[in-house]
Amino acid sequence: MLSINNVSFTYESGSPALSNVSLRIDDGEFVCIVGHNGSGKSTLAKMLNGLLLPTEGTVIVNGMDTADEDRLLDIRRHVGIVFQNPDNQIVTTVVREDVAFGPENLGIPTEEMIVRVDEALAAVGMESYAESAPHMLSGGQKQRIAIAGMLAMEPNVLVLDEATAMLDPLGRRDIIRIVRELHEKKGITVIMITQYMEEAIGVDRVIVMNGGQVWMEGTPAEIFARGDELRSIGLDVPAAVELREQLKEKGIADAGDAMTLEELSKELCRSLLNT
Ligand code: ADP
Ligand code: MG
Repeated sequence: MLSINNVSFTYESGSPALSNVSLRIDDGEFVCIVGHNGSGKSTLAKMLNGLLLPTEGTVIVNGMDTADEDRLLDIRRHVGIVFQNPDNQIVTTVVREDVAFGPENLGIPTEEMIVRVDEALAAVGMESYAESAPHMLSGGQKQRIAIAGMLAMEPNVLVLDEATAMLDPLGRRDIIRIVRELHEKKGITVIMITQYMEEAIGVDRVIVMNGGQVWMEGTPAEIFARGDELRSIGLDVPAAVELREQLKEKGIADAGDAMTLEELSKELCRSLLNT
């Protein structure tokens, strides 16, 4: 579905932001990309819908090369990106119009558009705000509107580039829940870029970026088993994983690959009962 082949990219002013990155993301996958500031995550995200073109290598979306200008609109329809700052993504003064903005540019007929907008707003739980003024909404609500705007274009792939970074914990949890639902119910491929390691728990695959390269790749269990390596590049592990490491190090208990506090307590009880 999405293949990134030996992609390198250098901004006009600077050193390479991506160096020889190769990745394949399958239809229906839920992938999480983590990495510290400046590791190339946003540059990679912008490659996925042709907002940036590789200096070297190719990006193929559904068989279409992002360097092929004739396919760019089609590619943008397939891959929707939600960015970090909710305010930068609001373009009109009424929520409904904002959600309609993308499909309108695709030339979707009005009748279909009304249906799409209503469905998209319902999918993010914002149907009662259709006539509201976007600037009156909270950051989390604005991000939901931004997601609805992408959904109205019926994309196969939704990319969230630190879309929860500016939200409070509740707003963050809402967005994660909605994105998981979209993935499960509509089979949308999700690529979630995040600084919060907790958000990677339960995804299909985690990709760790460092210095413009794919540094590590694997299931959440595989990645979080390598806490020392993650810390060596300035990343951390989920709180439960850190606790589990300490318990093991001190010889108190081996909690397997528990990643949440719930799993950790289960594993601990099991281990206590066995001794
Ligand atoms: P991340 O999203 O992981 O923080 P970015 O992709 O934004 O990383 O940045 C990767 C590298 O590219 C960094 O060194 C950053 O300073 C540089 N960079 C990002 N955007 C620009 C830009 N518009 N112009 C020049 N350099 C940039
Ligand atoms: Mg970024």
